[in-house]
Amino acid sequence: MSRTLRETVRSVARVAAPAALTRIGPVPTSSQQVADAVARPASAPDRSAGPAACPWCGASTVDAVPTGTRRVRCTSCGVQLTWPWPDAAELDHAYADWYRPEGGRFSGPGDAILRITRGSTAWTVDRIAPDGVVIDVGAGDGHLLDALHRRGRDAIGLERDADTTARPDLRDDALDELERPDGGAAAVVLWHVIEHLPEPRIAIREAVRLLKPGGVLVLACPNADSRQARSFGDRWLAWDQPRHLVHFTPAALEEGLRAEGFAVRTRGHLRAGQSVFCALHGLVGRVPGAGDLYDAIRQPDARQAPLSGARRAWTAAVAAAVLPVAALAAAGEALEGRGASIYLEAVRTDTPTSEPHGR
Ligand SMILES: [Zn+2]
Repeated sequence: MSRTLRETVRSVARVAAPAALTRIGPVPTSSQQVADAVARPASAPDRSAGPAACPWCGASTVDAVPTGTRRVRCTSCGVQLTWPWPDAAELDHAYADWYRPEGGRFSGPGDAILRITRGSTAWTVDRIAPDGVVIDVGAGDGHLLDALHRRGRDAIGLERDADTTARPDLRDDALDELERPDGGAAAVVLWHVIEHLPEPRIAIREAVRLLKPGGVLVLACPNADSRQARSFGDRWLAWDQPRHLVHFTPAALEEGLRAEGFAVRTRGHLRAGQSVFCALHGLVGRVPGAGDLYDAIRQPDARQAPLSGARRAWTAAVAAAVLPVAALAAAGEALEGRGASIYLEAVRTDTPTSEPHGR
């Protein structure tokens, strides 16, 4: 085994192994302290470079703590915010055509895998939701809608600039523009969406408005409190800045949902996807000569930067070699409750537990 590969395997083992085996020296009292210690840059954040109030809990961001090259942490609720917050021009560029080209994003089986995983999500949503329509927020290519329709579910999707003529089940609307279905929706799905929203708390309130009592919210997003986030620091794929604006921890997310009148029924990590791939991406990125794995699996016109055939082949070979370790790492951190993604099922009740902060 080469020295580089050996070091890579060791670094993965550190991610996968129980925390008790990997701590050296004083044990931090919270994961937040560890994350801050690992990633804290020297300079204080520019207070004017983002929203004055945390878009999740409403607290002032004046005391926000730097946690990475482009992130600060709200000292009130613990979410991290992309900081500086991107302006419209930067976001336009970040969501330019390469992000989701017409020919599909991924090479080979990538888009097919996406369809299969959406089928699994559709099965879950159909099983746990009461009768009625399902609303998929950020429906993308409509794979989840297709899977829900195949199960006989009425479902509509929201997607900006959607071709609503080709797909009448898509709406080119924002959440707050969508009319409440008669009797209320059975489910609202926010599948790797909430982290993209500049006002995520308002999206949750819109979900409350749209849902019938007993209706379910199904939500998945990256876990900023995961072992991967800590281990890979700024290089963790799921920060995905500047597209991801708010980086949630399970505790902050659940507290906010409860305050808006949801009862969290199920939480987990593996069902939200991404865990193995993000671990793999981080590990491959540590091997000299390997390219960006996310680019390597995308169609040529869906890449952020060109990638030569030879470099892509080397990247793929490295990925295949470390895949078992990445899978082990992802499973280990999920079992420990520190998985790379957060998966939540929450039921709308009629009684918010606290006064909402101002809209
Ligand atoms: Zn906050």
